[in-house]
Amino acid sequence: MDGESTRQRYQSVCQRINEARAKANREHETIHLVAVTKYAAMDQVRELIELGHVDFGEGRVQHFLKIAPQVQEYIDRRRAIGEGGDVSQARWHFIGHLQRNKARKLLSQVRLIHSVDSLRLAEEIQAGSENAESPVEVLVQINPSDDRKRYGIAPAAVRHLIEQIETMVTIRVRGLMAMAPAVENPEEARPVFERVHELFQEIQRSGVGGEHFDILSMGMSNDFEVAVECGANIVRVGSAIFGDTEVTETPTIETAGA
Ligand SMILES: *Cc1c(COP(=O)(O)O)cnc(C)c1O
Repeated sequence: MDGESTRQRYQSVCQRINEARAKANREHETIHLVAVTKYAAMDQVRELIELGHVDFGEGRVQHFLKIAPQVQEYIDRRRAIGEGGDVSQARWHFIGHLQRNKARKLLSQVRLIHSVDSLRLAEEIQAGSENAESPVEVLVQINPSDDRKRYGIAPAAVRHLIEQIETMVTIRVRGLMAMAPAVENPEEARPVFERVHELFQEIQRSGVGGEHFDILSMGMSNDFEVAVECGANIVRVGSAIFGDTEVTETPTIETAGA
């Protein structure tokens, strides 16, 4: 990745999504790219905002609570100095495993939670959003290959979970999220993505999720083109845009006496 700028990598990912879309005859469909910030430095995120990018994803609550306000501040500042022009509000996606006791902190700040994988988590979201103006939108995360290292519920249990969540007034299930097993060759992920897409369509046909059940989130840096070919309409891409050095904490400099 040396020598390539964030902008070049971002544009190349966008182009590859378009090519995969064309290959699958899906030109008329919108595919959203969620830029996953877990490897991103703030100035890389700023660069994307300047390019007009709006969808960002984060999987760790602490990091989210830190980066989201920074992004908002940046957007507000650009607007205040009249450079806001075409800078839109950022839309945040929470994509990581969510512990029930942390769910409430996020609710008002995220547009879509991709990782609902139990009834109890859904109940916690429901309890935390009783006063919300509009329902919290979520995806149900499935574990398509019963991979023990992955979160998510078994495909056989997904329909029942959706039925249960559909009875809760302040949550709306918008679709499914899945991760393929980590494989060297993205083609190995294809059968998994195909199976998830089939399940997604089955649920749509059954009417369980209602009309708003229309989002399929799958595909990461290593396999997003295959995912698009298999019907994903959200891909979540981190390292292919931002590089792969994980940013943990910004070091704070302690000043004596401060
Ligand atoms: C980290 C992460 C991604 C992005 O991974 P890359 O391989 O860096 O693109 C996507 N989805 C989830 C759930 C993640 O945790």
